[in-house]
Amino acid sequence: IIPKYPATGTTIFSIMSALANEHKAINLSQGFPDFPIDEMLGSLVNKAIMDGFNQYAPMIGLQNLREAIANKILHFQKVEVNPNTEITITPGATYAIYTAFATILQPDDEVIVLEPAYDSYVPNIYTCGATPVRITLNDGTFEIDWNKIYAAITTKTKAIIINNPHNPCSVTWSEQDFQHLITLVEKHNLYVVSDEVYEHLVFDSKEHISVLRYPELRSRSFVIHSFGKAFHSTGWKMGYCIAPAELMHAFRAIHQYLAFSVNTPMQQGIATYLDDLSHLETTTRMLQQRRDFFLEQMKATRFKWLKPAAGSYFQLMNYEAISDLPSMEFAIWLTKNYSVACIPLSSFYQDDNNEKWVRFCFAKKEETLMAAVENLKSI
Ligand code: PMP
Ligand code: GLN
Repeated sequence: IIPKYPATGTTIFSIMSALANEHKAINLSQGFPDFPIDEMLGSLVNKAIMDGFNQYAPMIGLQNLREAIANKILHFQKVEVNPNTEITITPGATYAIYTAFATILQPDDEVIVLEPAYDSYVPNIYTCGATPVRITLNDGTFEIDWNKIYAAITTKTKAIIINNPHNPCSVTWSEQDFQHLITLVEKHNLYVVSDEVYEHLVFDSKEHISVLRYPELRSRSFVIHSFGKAFHSTGWKMGYCIAPAELMHAFRAIHQYLAFSVNTPMQQGIATYLDDLSHLETTTRMLQQRRDFFLEQMKATRFKWLKPAAGSYFQLMNYEAISDLPSMEFAIWLTKNYSVACIPLSSFYQDDNNEKWVRFCFAKKEETLMAAVENLKSI
């Protein structure tokens, strides 16, 4: 069999978590919290099971969950979204991103991808028969060079995928970035796939700015979210997509024959939990506290960082002062010799690059972060 995307290999997240397990290392690689979900959320899902929410949900998702999401978006983004025509519940964000690509892409279309990029984007685009056009973020600062993007546009360019807050660089978008994007997509008539899974992990009293706030972007965007990040429940694979009615209609045409529908009791439990939006503010506060704790501890090591993560639960660390190894080899060496697993930045690029950065996940108990830093201090 020749798969549509033959060159795939194994994702770095599986590789590093397996290596961490093999060497009994502290796993700050794959992004998942090691602390429990809110007991109340667990009880609500259990209750939904006992109350009989155990058969197929409607294809587009439970009405009360879509309404709760619309209410959440109104609260945080100050925009109205129609729960019936503009929201679809999906089995996680990765699925929603693929479905958005499958909705818009024809063979030979091109999609702008900003590297470093989350590892599913490029394979997804190839699987749709289209071609990713990779633009690298500026060295070190990880800001966007819009001139490079303008220069890469061709008659085949169909869409751009953006990720704000960013994994793995933890940067967030400036107003200028949004204005550039508006100019670009209007001039070249592009779709936007906006991966906003870390929307509730934006720190230092800043708010998350969604593309939904800009009518010029909203009219051509698929906005992707994940409850895994917001509720510390990555294993639940629950997310949703927001798009204007016409685009959402096409998205649902694909979704109905891919997953058809999503875990019913979890939808019911989450819908009730979202009656109180302060849970999301608790998530933000808690993760900011973990970030600050981690960085305070890391001062005692020889790792360096540019700025504290503005968003997401990752921090890039530069190891130039410690080693000359390429980042993949460094990450393996660190796991084997110092029992701390991280993700090499090079795995977020398609081509080799020689940047000396690795990514640590700080969504961990304080004791886990402390134990990791204790090991890192000895290098
Ligand atoms: N996009 C980004 C940037 C991510 O970091 C993740 C992490 N899992 C996802 C998408 C996928 O989310 P999900 O687990 O809901 O599929
Ligand atoms: N998003 C998580 C990360 O970036 C992991 C997701 C996965 O394992 N596929 O680490």
